[in-house]
Amino acid sequence: MIIILKNGAKQSEIEPLRNYISKKGIILQDIVGETTRMIGMAGDTSGFTEDMILRYPCVERVMRVKEPYKLASRSFHEADSSFEVEGRKVGGGAFTVIAGPCSVESEEQIVSIAKDVKNSGASFLRGGAFKPRTSPYSFSGLGLDGLELLKIAREKTGLPIVTELMSSEHLDDFINDVDIIQIGARNMQNFTLLRQVGEAGRPVLLKRGLSSSIDEFLMAAEYILSGGAKEVILCERGIRTFETATRNTLDLSAVPVLKAKTHLPVIIDPSHSTGYWSLVEPMSLAATAAGADGLIIEVHNHPEAALCDGEQSITPQLFHRLMGKVRAIREVVHPEAADRQSEMQTTI
Ligand code: PEP
Ligand code: MN
Repeated sequence: MIIILKNGAKQSEIEPLRNYISKKGIILQDIVGETTRMIGMAGDTSGFTEDMILRYPCVERVMRVKEPYKLASRSFHEADSSFEVEGRKVGGGAFTVIAGPCSVESEEQIVSIAKDVKNSGASFLRGGAFKPRTSPYSFSGLGLDGLELLKIAREKTGLPIVTELMSSEHLDDFINDVDIIQIGARNMQNFTLLRQVGEAGRPVLLKRGLSSSIDEFLMAAEYILSGGAKEVILCERGIRTFETATRNTLDLSAVPVLKAKTHLPVIIDPSHSTGYWSLVEPMSLAATAAGADGLIIEVHNHPEAALCDGEQSITPQLFHRLMGKVRAIREVVHPEAADRQSEMQTTI
């Protein structure tokens, strides 16, 4: 439900209304439009009728929001949401590139890749310490040791780190040490984990589930937002279809579809969505042209020897080339970005 307040409504009139609603466990969100002030109600509003709210003299009218997600909805937050993570702007017209290996393998590997991707303009370093693998016999990451190596790479390059949390067992370590907590595709509907991560209030990168609809994806984001987190990035990483030529099928239309439905930043993962390094550049360019707010790309200094996802990892050299082309496309789709130099960290 959205409550539209009368023009000139006084705070002393609004307060009793807010108290009445929040006492029933509803989350209130102020929505500041160009000319009107509104309050969004998120939660189980089935106990409220419009008449109950219209009794308050500050109320002009009440609108029901048909979507099941509220805090994630554009109708609750008209403008694109944007926030800063360690001095890097995300959303709201910025372009965020997260790059690094699928998995952290050694100090030499992660530091070398971090330096390279930073020099090419990445704003964040990615690297899995805990890896969700289909086979229990595959390399499943270095765990907390991997997190320590990511911290070393951050220290040496200044790049903030993005890494996947698979279990709440490690939540405290992630709250202390990780700049953006990634929730992977396989955990997109792990509702307990989503709630816990939301309550932690740290920035979250939420990946779309392998077989999840857009609305299910947004409901997963709603779990995180309703827990209290405000900084949530959505990532389309390919979905399951009948097609076998690629690892998954990149749903590129998810970019404009999501951006119409939600204010949250939307980024694309061209690596997991295609499964092949040769497809990473074209899909990155297409995603940029489609209006994505950024990319998360797997980069490895020795893809042929990578312990995970080498076939879809690009080399630092290819990443450098790709960034140059992405920048050129950004000039076209987003010419108003005043300071392209800081939008991506360096210029090629
Ligand atoms: C990843 O980004 O490391 C990953 C495992 O991706 P996804 O959850 O999208 O499969
Ligand atoms: Mn991977």
